[in-house]
Amino acid sequence: MSLLKIEGLRVFFRSGDRIVKANNSINLEVTDNEIIGIIGETGCGKSILGRAIMTLLSDNTEVSGKIIYKDKDLLTLPENKLRDIRGKNIGIILQNPAAALNPVLSIGNQISEVFRYHEKMSKQEAKIKTAGILEMVGIDPDRAGEYPHQFSGGMKQRAMIAMGMALSPEILIADEPTKGLDPETKDIIVTLLQDLVRNRNMSMILITHDLDVAEKMCDRIAVMYAGEIIELASAQDILAEPGHPYTQVLLSSLPKKGLRSISGESPSLSSPPSGCRFHPRCEYAMDICKQDHPDMFFTDIGTEVRCFLYNGGQDQP
Ligand code: SF4
Repeated sequence: MSLLKIEGLRVFFRSGDRIVKANNSINLEVTDNEIIGIIGETGCGKSILGRAIMTLLSDNTEVSGKIIYKDKDLLTLPENKLRDIRGKNIGIILQNPAAALNPVLSIGNQISEVFRYHEKMSKQEAKIKTAGILEMVGIDPDRAGEYPHQFSGGMKQRAMIAMGMALSPEILIADEPTKGLDPETKDIIVTLLQDLVRNRNMSMILITHDLDVAEKMCDRIAVMYAGEIIELASAQDILAEPGHPYTQVLLSSLPKKGLRSISGESPSLSSPPSGCRFHPRCEYAMDICKQDHPDMFFTDIGTEVRCFLYNGGQDQP
């Protein structure tokens, strides 16, 4: 069953005298009990997409399209209704816990605030709930009174997971939850997140540049390039048989596949290339690729790919 449906989402914002087109015509559906990965290089617009779903974008941002959650378009809801949905229905684990956590508030108090605000709990009730949620993410509740600087990187990430999961949202957005962690801690966090999401029958949008993490966790994967989704398929299909030339080079850059570097520069989101945005870096580029912008086409195995190599006279999805 569909939980969240994004239709024609565009997110543009002004940076100096430039308009940054961070998300362009994004269409994506999140279903019950699935983990969907949004992958791509740094700066491709994937974190902006996560913040757009949470309607957490700055005032200078122009957003159009639809983000439908339970028959309601989040982009048209007033702020007081959105505040009820954030955390309770759709939770987020923000990137970079060191910056996201409040340095002058104890970890326990930061989590308690979530219960006090959304569930209107008393201090005592919130404290008990906080102890339970800390235990759930593997933090000794006796450490609730400690401050973020007293926690290691992995422990801070656990605290962020506790805050994101506190109200048992139906959908959890995890933005680079393993970034900056050492390999051992990364594995622990991946297992923890996966177990929590699966055991609670939640859905998760995992935003990551780490293909190993996406491979371990995701049911489906959407690949983003220059503000667009350029491939969408089951994780199994995309990893075994990537269709888009960009996905192919991205996957071949995995350490176990030889760390092949992608030639050329990532495109600017304020002046992306004409036609297919990948054409200056694509070894298969044809004349049409420089002029026309490809829609999504189905491949023989049923994946959706934004590439003229797959148009073959077929209808667009
Ligand atoms: Fe390459 Fe053309 Fe496909 Fe773009 S549309 S990925 S340039 S072949």
